[in-house]
Amino acid sequence: MNSIRKLLVVILASISMTGFAVAKQQPNIVVIFADDLGYGDLGCFGHPTIATPELDRMAQEGMKLTQFYSAAPVCTPSRAALMTGRLPMRNGMCSNKRRVLFPDSALGIPEAELTIAEQLKSAGYATACIGKWHLGHLPPYLPTSNGFDSYFGIPYSNDMDRVADTPKGREAFWNPKVEYWNVPLMRNEEIIERPANQTTITRRYTEEAVSFIREHKEQPFFLYMPHSLPHVPLFRGKKFAGKSRRGLYGDVIEEIDWSVGQVLETLRKHNLDDNTLVIFTSDNGPWLIFNDHGGSAGLLRDGKGSTWEGGMREPTVAWWPGTIPAGSVSAEISSTMDIYATAHDIAGIDLPNDRELDSINLMPILTGGKGDRETYFYYRGYRLMAIRHGSWKMHFMTQNAYGQPQPVTHEVPLLFNLDVDPSESQNLAEKHPEIIEKLTAIAKEHMDSAEPAPSQLETRIMAN
Ligand code: MG
Repeated sequence: MNSIRKLLVVILASISMTGFAVAKQQPNIVVIFADDLGYGDLGCFGHPTIATPELDRMAQEGMKLTQFYSAAPVCTPSRAALMTGRLPMRNGMCSNKRRVLFPDSALGIPEAELTIAEQLKSAGYATACIGKWHLGHLPPYLPTSNGFDSYFGIPYSNDMDRVADTPKGREAFWNPKVEYWNVPLMRNEEIIERPANQTTITRRYTEEAVSFIREHKEQPFFLYMPHSLPHVPLFRGKKFAGKSRRGLYGDVIEEIDWSVGQVLETLRKHNLDDNTLVIFTSDNGPWLIFNDHGGSAGLLRDGKGSTWEGGMREPTVAWWPGTIPAGSVSAEISSTMDIYATAHDIAGIDLPNDRELDSINLMPILTGGKGDRETYFYYRGYRLMAIRHGSWKMHFMTQNAYGQPQPVTHEVPLLFNLDVDPSESQNLAEKHPEIIEKLTAIAKEHMDSAEPAPSQLETRIMAN
């Protein structure tokens, strides 16, 4: 009898221990993704007149990642890579002809892709996408068909669906009015407003995000918050009008900064801060051709559309109090694609093993150690433009920023040591033929083994 009682005690104890382990929730994951934000546009990344106290505090409580890259210098392929942990050429979300999806695009992210949201949903996470999607605006491609329980936002860029009688060319952007762009605002699969009132959009994304966190505080959640700004045309709420010394662009960034503060404050308020990873970054560099309506890449060269550092290196802050060392800085090479493997690790699920991934787990970096990424590939469409290995970057081809009237393409290998020369101003190709040889070999091996998928960006909706 005694031994049976002892056995019962042991069984009950182990049940309660298991119960305790299960009760410890999987950590939440929040990704805040700006659109066309430059490397030099945040206070904590050195901007002298744009005030970003919330992001600065986030960096003080977390980690700045100074060599964190997007997978492409424009919207659609960059987002596809974040969602899938794969280079855009592997899932066809790129093209050498049309660089992004448009309102007449017939396709979107292929169904066979396993998005980060689908993976986390299968692991019991509540999932929401709040903001600009840009991976297909037709029902089979919307966030709700790609693992998100809910969606609130615009399906493509805020400068699309331009109304015919707006001022010509870039004129419309210098004094933007909401009615110039007939962009839809969607809730799940329905259009709820058109044109979307872009002056209130950052505030409304924020309110949606705060509600989502509040409603799902009892279960693990994944919140993907791709802001539609500071992509031009620029809009901000009344409260932020004229607030920044940097003008309209600064106002827009300061409203996004406020929004980040609201999200972090909500996490603190519900005691979720020590169980939530928040990553803030951008999809590509600043759109320099828009003068003061575009941002700044700081000390980096060029911007959106180019594979110079300014096109793809993003101002990135990671926050997870108690896990990420406060006030830390990492110069390890890392990428938006790495959020995929990191999320799998955090959720305790296996990575898919039936496909090529380009994702490494960021947790060793985020906890103050070294990362596993030594090499980075810079693509424009299907063209491998440049490769980075360690501190060395070699360009096979360069092209000036997206939209330049006369892009210059040349096939001269250029070599820079990014640790010494992040501005890519001193070509060391002649001095280091051995590095050229090594990087060429790595690139060749990558290209020989890569299997590009057919482009999903070139098919248009057939006109009736
Ligand atoms: Mg963008």
